[in-house]
Amino acid sequence: MLPNGWVMTVGTDISALKHNEKSLRQAHEAALLASRTDLLTGLPNRRYIMELLDEALAASRQSGSGLCAAIIDIDHFKGINDTYGHDAGDAVLQHFAQACRERLPPGSQLGRIGGEEFLLLLTDVRLDDADRRLDAVRAGFPAAILPDHATRRPVAFSAGLAEALPHDDRSSILYRADRALYAAKAEGRSRTKVGFEGTR
Ligand code: GH3
Ligand code: MG
Ligand code: MG
Repeated sequence: MLPNGWVMTVGTDISALKHNEKSLRQAHEAALLASRTDLLTGLPNRRYIMELLDEALAASRQSGSGLCAAIIDIDHFKGINDTYGHDAGDAVLQHFAQACRERLPPGSQLGRIGGEEFLLLLTDVRLDDADRRLDAVRAGFPAAILPDHATRRPVAFSAGLAEALPHDDRSSILYRADRALYAAKAEGRSRTKVGFEGTR
């Protein structure tokens, strides 16, 4: 209010500011997604799937609902690289990720934890069910078409499966899954073995 009774208002156009805010938020979201994603397969990367495992363990502890984790490893993968080259190996990894994703139940999470190793999280399931689901993924798993567009290469995998126990943390459940994977490989591959507490 001016001394003479007039009211003075001042306005400024902040659309540019708002636009910058939006671009910044979008850039932040894109950076976050990139930091969580495996470049080759588009799956959650190691760091992110481990975070998801921590969250799933906490949720399972709180609600008492079942949680199973499986470490999955493609069988004789090195042979693909050695015979057909690294690009063919990459194509098989992409194919594997895509085919698994299509064959897994909704709500499950699959991440790539290393070369040809993946971590699968199955929520709201007990051991027997999880085992069956892995068998369903394995049954009739589609062959990969290599980059020459001609070679069809069957893909098999081994899995070590473990069910979350109330006192589990990331490393204890993964230890059981890893031991079970080792047993699956030792028994001839292309199978799932279950890791129980106390078994070595
Ligand atoms: P096993 O049946 O016992 O699991 O044998 P394997 O040949 O699958 O396993 P091994 O550990 O002997 O070999 C894994 C290979 O995966 C070796 C490594 O060069 C290759 N590898 C790791 N990361 C990548 C990748 O991103 N792309 C490709 N093409 N190869 C990769
Ligand atoms: Mg391996
Ligand atoms: Mg392997």
